[in-house]
Amino acid sequence: MARSAPKIGIFGGTFDPIHVGHLRAAEEVREALGLQKVLFVLSARPPHKGGVAHAPAEDRWEMLKRALRGNPHFEPCDVELRREGLSYSIDTVRELSRKLQAECYFIVGEDSFRGIQTWKDWQQLLELCSFIVMRRTEEDLTPFLETLGYRERDRGRFETQRGIPLLLLPVTPIRVSATLVRDLIKRGQSIRYLVPDPVREYILEKHLYLNP
Ligand code: ATP
Repeated sequence: MARSAPKIGIFGGTFDPIHVGHLRAAEEVREALGLQKVLFVLSARPPHKGGVAHAPAEDRWEMLKRALRGNPHFEPCDVELRREGLSYSIDTVRELSRKLQAECYFIVGEDSFRGIQTWKDWQQLLELCSFIVMRRTEEDLTPFLETLGYRERDRGRFETQRGIPLLLLPVTPIRVSATLVRDLIKRGQSIRYLVPDPVREYILEKHLYLNP
């Protein structure tokens, strides 16, 4: 009997640093869709930030590994770290789809998704794998999705002209951002409970994010 392909989530981010907002949202997506695994893909050289982040890619990678340790469903993914040049999602999805014999779901927050038209080859990307957009507001996204070429199939369920799905998935709003974490550090304030303890310890040990 043929076994169905595993369902894998691809969750990209600068993770500068990874925080509880990322982790909880990914957990809720994993559970809602029955994903076997969520790959946290570190954007080594983020195109929208001119290829540079606040902390070096090696430190962000180390924090990512520490944050995910102990969860068998979460895995850090270094494809963009190993690739030369800017970290484009289209290249990552192509590479992972080739390597994994899996049904891939690209997981993205609503705020990032709103900028999709600035992503490299975004139209091809939307046709390459299913998109899961994590909702954190009540705003109607339908008009925006229609400008991208989607049509609504059902409430919160859309598809491209070629029938590739996009799902709007509400997640518990946790108003933490990496910007907030970095700002607190700069002000000498606590980041306890906003990032996992091993991440907080690493930041302290390496004196990360102290400089403006
Ligand atoms: P920064 O504040 O530096 O812009 P960030 O906190 O938004 O960073 P990223 O690494 O840029 O973190 O985000 C990776 C992905 O996680 C994006 O798709 C983003 O929309 C999503 N995301 C970020 N913060 C949250 C949160 N609190 N809850 C759910 N998703 C989030």
